[in-house]
Amino acid sequence: MAELIAQASATHQVVVVVSAASGVTNELVAAWEALQQGTLDVATLLAQLRRRHRLLAQVLREHPASRRGYLVTLEGTLARLARVLEIARYDADPAWRDEVLATGERLMAPLLAALLRARGLKAFAQDATALICTDAQYGEANVRLEATRERLHRWFASIGRQVVPVVTGFIGATPDGRTTTLGRGGSDYSAALLAALLGAEVLERWTDVDGLYTKDPRKYPNACRYQTLVLEEAWAWNHAGRLGMHRKALDPLVAAGIPVHIRSTMTPERPGTWLLPADTPQTLVG
Ligand code: ASP
Ligand code: MG
Repeated sequence: MAELIAQASATHQVVVVVSAASGVTNELVAAWEALQQGTLDVATLLAQLRRRHRLLAQVLREHPASRRGYLVTLEGTLARLARVLEIARYDADPAWRDEVLATGERLMAPLLAALLRARGLKAFAQDATALICTDAQYGEANVRLEATRERLHRWFASIGRQVVPVVTGFIGATPDGRTTTLGRGGSDYSAALLAALLGAEVLERWTDVDGLYTKDPRKYPNACRYQTLVLEEAWAWNHAGRLGMHRKALDPLVAAGIPVHIRSTMTPERPGTWLLPADTPQTLVG
């Protein structure tokens, strides 16, 4: 990821949006359910998250000061989670659930930012609660576009052109600052909002599958990769539940006419899939 971001930022101004490490949000959902049933072992949960992220932080092994800095953030974030779980034990307000679920992204953004800085880039982690303004429908909050646009523009104007922000996907906040989540798989939606509201040239969606396929390529070896799709058509398919992305993920991009390039960090040399707005000149596809 760091290599890909470094390459892109050599020629473009890049805003990175990250999700939690694989499986972490599921663990947090399970933890919340266990908490409600009175069966959550908080110490074990914290130990698992600590072990997992310390292991990921091994990418910083040649940069001991960066690694130590990240480990301080890790402990701070885990302490915050522990406090929230303590409160939520007696108060099942769904706002606490969103605060718990936000932990995965809050553990990941600082790690990637630290890694980018260790490679000599100017990078910082940005909690999206300061950027994405939502209503208070916890679990699947609705974004207030105008307030979000205003905050994003003010924020973006304050960032130097050489600086790479690493923004937590999936989360936002109510006007009074309580953390909300945008629904499962919401990081794609977060990235789309940032791309659309900041007028990005392209949204690159990096996962471990190198594009969109006619069927799940991990299950069906004969699945075919789409080279290009019309964005508006992909949007309709996605609303029909056929692309498996967050339902609203493509909405901001269709509205703003921004192309999406779906690629894999495992095989970045592969061409991926382009989702192109209907009026895109074909020469843009490199
Ligand atoms: N981490 C969140 C989830 O698993 C958001 C995302 O992955 O896009 O739902
Ligand atoms: Mg996730």
